Amino acid sequence: MSADAGRQGTVLPTPSVGDEVAWVQRHLGHLALEPEVAASPDFRGGQSAADLALANFDVTGYARARNEVWPERRRGASRLSPYIRHGLIDLPSLWAHVADGPAGDRDKYRDELLWQEYARHLHARLGDAIRRPLRHEPPRRDRVGEWGWNREMACVDLAVEELETSGWLVNQTRMWLASQWSVRAGFDWREGAEHFERHLLDGSAAANLLGWQWTVGTGTGKPYGFSRWQVRKRAPGLCETCPLNDHCPIDGWPDSDGGPTVTHPDPLLRADPRAAVTAGPASVERLDGDLAPDAVWLTWESLGDGDPALVAHPDLPAVLVLDERLLKHRRLSGKRLVFVAETLADLATRRDVEVHLGNPATVLTGRRLAATAAPVPGWRRLAPRLELEKHPWPWLVRPGSGPVTSFTAWRRSSGAPTTGAARTGARRPRR
Ligand SMILES: Cc1cc2nc3c(=O)[nH]c(=O)nc-3n(C[C@H](O)[C@H](O)[C@H](O)COP(=O)(O)OP(=O)(O)OC[C@H]3O[C@@H](n4cnc5c(N)ncnc54)[C@H](O)[C@@H]3O)c2cc1C
Repeated sequence: MSADAGRQGTVLPTPSVGDEVAWVQRHLGHLALEPEVAASPDFRGGQSAADLALANFDVTGYARARNEVWPERRRGASRLSPYIRHGLIDLPSLWAHVADGPAGDRDKYRDELLWQEYARHLHARLGDAIRRPLRHEPPRRDRVGEWGWNREMACVDLAVEELETSGWLVNQTRMWLASQWSVRAGFDWREGAEHFERHLLDGSAAANLLGWQWTVGTGTGKPYGFSRWQVRKRAPGLCETCPLNDHCPIDGWPDSDGGPTVTHPDPLLRADPRAAVTAGPASVERLDGDLAPDAVWLTWESLGDGDPALVAHPDLPAVLVLDERLLKHRRLSGKRLVFVAETLADLATRRDVEVHLGNPATVLTGRRLAATAAPVPGWRRLAPRLELEKHPWPWLVRPGSGPVTSFTAWRRSSGAPTTGAARTGARRPRR
């Protein structure tokens, strides 16, 4: 390993374009889920790939086809989520990108962007408490089923294969798998969510846990039932390829009564007394004495060229610290690590990039840094210990103090932009 280990953690060589898989195998292989690291066959990381994907995305037809699953040519989802996850495409830019699309498609798409924004608000406010049932206990099962994701079922096999190989699923199959795992088979939803987060290139605590909470009913009290009916509608012809077609185990609806109400729901769901802290800086907060930073610290949330701190300091090197303890705990699939390595390699074609493996607090202490305030608990814990020039997160709508008990309540109270351009009268949403 050509690495420089020490108090600063391990300084890794910067990955280069074309060598990312080998780089991950060499430097992060001991932290990856699989012994043999492989890239996703379907997604490339990096700003250049994100820009290309965005340029090719046309929202026309989205509302009708976004939920379609199979055959693949029927799908209408944008597949931009891995780039959104790592801040290579921000939500305000995406909101503007669809402005001239057909009204129904544009509005539906913007609704989905608001779900992403809602997930981020919820996570920024609740922190790790998003991992606990929000409003209802999970549905009770007297006996946990013998199978969760039975690969003999063509519908389950299709989705699990795509999750574990490609690292991406349409929203519909995420709901199928989550429902099958928890609502029907009675397995712990948090274990299913962890499996998703290991594999999904867009895997984030915010959207993944909200998705699971919504599907299994802990967020709403109404679990989503998965049955053959959805497969016939969203993947016509798939059942005919299934060995279990004549004795389909999901022919009927699951018994899916919601669990009892959570006894002590988190009071932060109703109101946030520290909304300004949750939202982060509204304008740039300079270093004490107006000192200049000597590097830009990048987080997993914001690896794009448009990162506000990167934009403010075009001549400074960018520094990313891969948190070794966290990665060891998470055991992410190699394809997720390759996606990030591709992003760093691409960035390194335009500016200096330093990569460390170790404890971020140790590596970054003593440096003067500029960084964008990421809306995640890790940032909240670490930022106060560092010398930072802080840049505002590019919110679609700045978090406020109102309820986040449901998407509807949040939307009503947050001043979230309305989805119709005619109603907003503007191409870009309010910040
Ligand atoms: C169980 C489960 C787990 C999920 N895990 C994640 C996750 O880890 N990361 C993630 O980004 N999304 C997650 N989602 C939400 C959604 O499924 C994905 O965002 C979407 O499938 C990504 O594909 P796309 O970019 O083609 O989406 P499109 O349909 O093209 O939507 C555009 C964008 O809107 C946002 N969006 C759409 N639906 C949702 C939603 N329900 N919640 C939040 N944002 C949404 C995403 O940013 C998405 O990229 C999950 C949903 C469920 C039900």
